[in-house]
Amino acid sequence: MRDEVVELAQQLIAIQSESLLSNATISDFLQKWLEKHGLAVERICYIDPNGVEKVNLIAQMGEGTGGLGFFSHSDTVPGDGAQWQPFNPRVEDGKLYGRGSCDMKGPLAASMIAVAGIDASKLRRPLYIAIAADEEMGHVGAHHIQKESATFKQNWPTWTVIPEPTEMLPVYAHKGGALITVTATGRAAHTSLDTGISANFLIAPFLAEMAELAKRMKSEERYKNHEFDPPTNGFNLTIDDGGCATNVTAAKCVAKVNFRIMPNDLHEEIIAQIEAAARRYGLAITHRKLMPFIVPKDAPIVQAACRAVNAAAMNVPFGTEAESYQRYTQCVVLGPGGIGQAHTVNEFVRIDQLEQAVTAFQRIITELCM
Ligand SMILES: [Zn+2]
Repeated sequence: MRDEVVELAQQLIAIQSESLLSNATISDFLQKWLEKHGLAVERICYIDPNGVEKVNLIAQMGEGTGGLGFFSHSDTVPGDGAQWQPFNPRVEDGKLYGRGSCDMKGPLAASMIAVAGIDASKLRRPLYIAIAADEEMGHVGAHHIQKESATFKQNWPTWTVIPEPTEMLPVYAHKGGALITVTATGRAAHTSLDTGISANFLIAPFLAEMAELAKRMKSEERYKNHEFDPPTNGFNLTIDDGGCATNVTAAKCVAKVNFRIMPNDLHEEIIAQIEAAARRYGLAITHRKLMPFIVPKDAPIVQAACRAVNAAAMNVPFGTEAESYQRYTQCVVLGPGGIGQAHTVNEFVRIDQLEQAVTAFQRIITELCM
């Protein structure tokens, strides 16, 4: 089993699938593998805003209603290949290195090996593996699955494990995120002419208001949720004027305000305050948000996950696709690897955790579906 899961994870890492590229090649591989192991596979394709083909897969083993899903994604963040060899997986000191090893090709491989090891004739309820595109681009593929999957139109699994990296500790709640993009448009001109309008000066009063708002986020209790550690929302702001030269007025300046949404944190009021400030200074605004995820700690899927790993449920400050799937299926987040590894150079997953994941996933399957 150890060899199987490591080998499969290595094969997945070696197929480059950064979100900006098409994930058709890795989806072909995954579909063939799943079909070879007796699962029926539905393939949902769409074209992303850059004109690139993206593929979602929904695989099913067993018949009936309800059941259990393992929901992953096949895209990764960029490999940053100048600093390491992201698509040449290597094993060293009990760790598997490579882009996606922990987020989340390693965890996906563990769920595939777990399901493939189940005797389909003994299932009382169906098992599903869903593999979405574009998770790193705002959960776009997951939304296509929710709207278009013929498999799930017939039957959503009652319970779902999202195997994102949690060091194999069950997660019943996590924060979401809000991203508000504010753009000032000026006019570029060489300062020797002094005819320009600096977008940076246009946006400056808005930035000053955000600095004040950031202080309030940290000090005012009503914006906090003490179920989480830290209880605050990580309010942050970045600025981009395109690296404007110092002797030219900036034609454009984009500020991005980002914070982590928690249940009952007044995030709608916060977004409204940011938008009102932007409007006061005539700036353009767009925003998108990913909701927090929460399920009762005593929910059957959380309890099954706790028993499978012999640990208590916890919450985490990072987001997963549980935020969008929770409307359809009762979710728990549980997977090998640490989130501190995700999106880093020299990303790795510990091989003993990959093995532990296969065992734990099979325990959950046995308890809920056999
Ligand atoms: Zn992920």
